[in-house]
Amino acid sequence: MKIVIDAGHGYSTAGKRSPDGLQEYEINRSIASYARQFLESYQNIRIIFTHSDKQDVPLQTRVKTANSLQADCFVSIHSNAAGHGTEWHSASGIETYIYNSASQKSRSLADKVQQNLIIATGLKNRGVKTADFYVLRETKMPAILVECGFMTNSVEVKLLKSETYRKACGEAIAKAIAAEYHLQKKLIPLVTTPTIGSYKVQIGAFKSKQLADALAQTLKKQGYEPYIIFEKQ
Ligand SMILES: [Zn+2]
Repeated sequence: MKIVIDAGHGYSTAGKRSPDGLQEYEINRSIASYARQFLESYQNIRIIFTHSDKQDVPLQTRVKTANSLQADCFVSIHSNAAGHGTEWHSASGIETYIYNSASQKSRSLADKVQQNLIIATGLKNRGVKTADFYVLRETKMPAILVECGFMTNSVEVKLLKSETYRKACGEAIAKAIAAEYHLQKKLIPLVTTPTIGSYKVQIGAFKSKQLADALAQTLKKQGYEPYIIFEKQ
């Protein structure tokens, strides 16, 4: 199963920042990294990032990557802005987007991600919405775009700056993907230390019963109480 995680924008994208200067990409890439970290605990998956810390990747390239890999799902991670994005605004909460005529699979994934994010963050539920976004329209697999809170809201920006909040969002997104695609956790080998048992002292093993009897006799003379066990090979 190939999962594309797409952190919106890049470090060089103009605008796309909170009124106090936090870049949207910084938030998105962090949530994407946490999502990958949680997804890596599941079996048979490959996670592909379409964004880059080095350059701003065009939307066409992101979509092309997902389509040419024949990915199973596309999850774009963003942070919201209201008004002109340059002043603080009262709009708040989390919303998830799917394409106008999205498939049932996109809808189902969006519902799960949105629900998990609301449970994990306790923020206002703005619901699953439809939009004619390029990455949702041009991708050939179930595709969603999440807005993990408003960086133009003076309260929510504090959350978006915190690693705890970013981690909670990443985990919520990962768990929703896992639930939608019935992913199984990787098996961790159990290292068990026996706590109940007995320690046996053995002083010899013989192919011949006669030799075993002889040693037992010697031990008896020395005051021990040996017994002989036959083990089939
Ligand atoms: Zn964005």
